[in-house]
Amino acid sequence: MKNLAIIIGSGIGGLSTAVRLLSKGYNVEIYEKEKTIGGRTNQRVHSPFTFDLTASLLMNREIYEEVFNYANVNYEDYLEFIKVDPTYRCFYPNDIHYDFSTDLVSLIKTLESISSKDSIGYMKLLSEIYERYVIANENFLQKSFENKLDFFNASTLAKALKTKTFSTSHELISNYINDENLRKSLYYQALYVGVSPYEGPSIYTLIPVVCQLYGLWHLKGGMYSYVKALEKVISHLGGKIITDYTVDEILISNGRAVGIKSKNKKEIFGDLVISNADFPYTMDKLIKNDIYKEKYTPIKLNNLKYSCSTFIIYLGLKKKYPILSVHNLFLNDNFKENVDFAFTGHLPTEPSFYMYCPTKIDSTMIEIQGECLNIVVRVPNLFFHTITWDDTTIKLLRDKILYTIEKINGLEDIESNILYESYFTPKDLKDSFNSYGGTAFGLSPTLTQTNYFRPHLKSDTIKNLYFVGSSVHPGPGVSIVLLSSKLLVQEILSNL
Ligand SMILES: Cc1cc2nc3c(=O)[nH]c(=O)nc-3n(C[C@H](O)[C@H](O)[C@H](O)COP(=O)(O)OP(=O)(O)OC[C@H]3O[C@@H](n4cnc5c(N)ncnc54)[C@H](O)[C@@H]3O)c2cc1C
Repeated sequence: MKNLAIIIGSGIGGLSTAVRLLSKGYNVEIYEKEKTIGGRTNQRVHSPFTFDLTASLLMNREIYEEVFNYANVNYEDYLEFIKVDPTYRCFYPNDIHYDFSTDLVSLIKTLESISSKDSIGYMKLLSEIYERYVIANENFLQKSFENKLDFFNASTLAKALKTKTFSTSHELISNYINDENLRKSLYYQALYVGVSPYEGPSIYTLIPVVCQLYGLWHLKGGMYSYVKALEKVISHLGGKIITDYTVDEILISNGRAVGIKSKNKKEIFGDLVISNADFPYTMDKLIKNDIYKEKYTPIKLNNLKYSCSTFIIYLGLKKKYPILSVHNLFLNDNFKENVDFAFTGHLPTEPSFYMYCPTKIDSTMIEIQGECLNIVVRVPNLFFHTITWDDTTIKLLRDKILYTIEKINGLEDIESNILYESYFTPKDLKDSFNSYGGTAFGLSPTLTQTNYFRPHLKSDTIKNLYFVGSSVHPGPGVSIVLLSSKLLVQEILSNL
């Protein structure tokens, strides 16, 4: 008889693990609390508009393809990648904007329009970070750290030192770049994993460098088409996805995970249990017996560091806006205050934000002549009890954001062209997907919460219990979570 793997949650981590295990001969059943699959990588459809709920920046395209290759499936039968160029359009107050392209000639033109000193500095920064990225990718992102000796050995520690992560992104970038606007466009990208560029390790400068050197991609139909593709492969390989099933407990017998329990549904038993639900939530709510919690008792969970959250406005517009690119950043003068506020419990006074406009290159996401626009602002997570996400807060923040957008040349009349408008708050992240503390990216990937120090893929205390997703090794982001499923399945197979 084939082994049955029970997966809690149908986020990117759960779905990709299912594909890999099915291709290795496991039976797989996924139990998802929501009515739709995909977790945070979800979508919101309101005809004639289709919005990606959260994730939109597709980096490291080959990691997305690898899941399909692993299962011997041709990804081209399921997915269509479209190159995004320019990768970013960055707007600043006083009508300044720069386009950043992966084409070196266009890029140099943009940089030289800022200054030749910054142009040279940018190239030096690229080469410095690229070197660190190669080390980090080979030695940390693609390796699991289940045992102390996996990390604490001379070779790995020497490689860790070579990544020189002890400075902050802010310190590293400002060593090479003088122009404050250019700096801000690089700092902002460290926020993609929910850490402050002024506090977090400089290793996250590799995000803008990966965008620059490997490019950004869009999937036809939006990021959710990746979820739909994984769903089709799972069904084709004989896996089952059961939605509307909230797991309330992981069943443990003699120190071994044996199944799952839901208040109103029947218990399910299997050979191994994998939780894709956010790791701290899993430890807090799904493991009932404290003797199994060890490093992750409620008090210890409270002492961990968590990423910030996001507030999103979805606008369905009845007019095309040529000034917008696919990925746009608006970086305000008081950018540092904005960032600090997201990590100290305050809402931005004059927000900086990211605007995603997929309809620039993808007509399948809209049925009229218009645009779908996601506006994303970094805000505090729910561990700060300073903000109540009610209609008043939402209206206040929404008005500030629209007021700022309307000052951008070419976007002045946006408000009068809105056909559809809705929001997504930290509270929604918590209520919909059990994202612990309503964070956007789970446990913060600080130095003391990465590699061996991040929660492991295999439970240290319960046999046959595994974890996959943003809050475990290697960390947050769709492509990194896809790597997490690869490392997890290696671990499961090696335990056989
Ligand atoms: C606003 C925002 C923007 C982002 N932008 C990007 C981006 O541009 N590019 C990028 O690469 N990444 C981005 N990310 C990060 C990326 O979306 C996440 O890292 C990734 O989707 C997380 O996947 P996951 O598998 O860890 O878990 P999740 O998506 O959290 O999935 C967990 C699943 O478990 C389910 N679940 C929870 N509890 C239970 C239970 N008790 N019973 C049953 N099911 C349960 C949940 O409903 C959910 O479906 C963004 C995230 C946010 C929030």
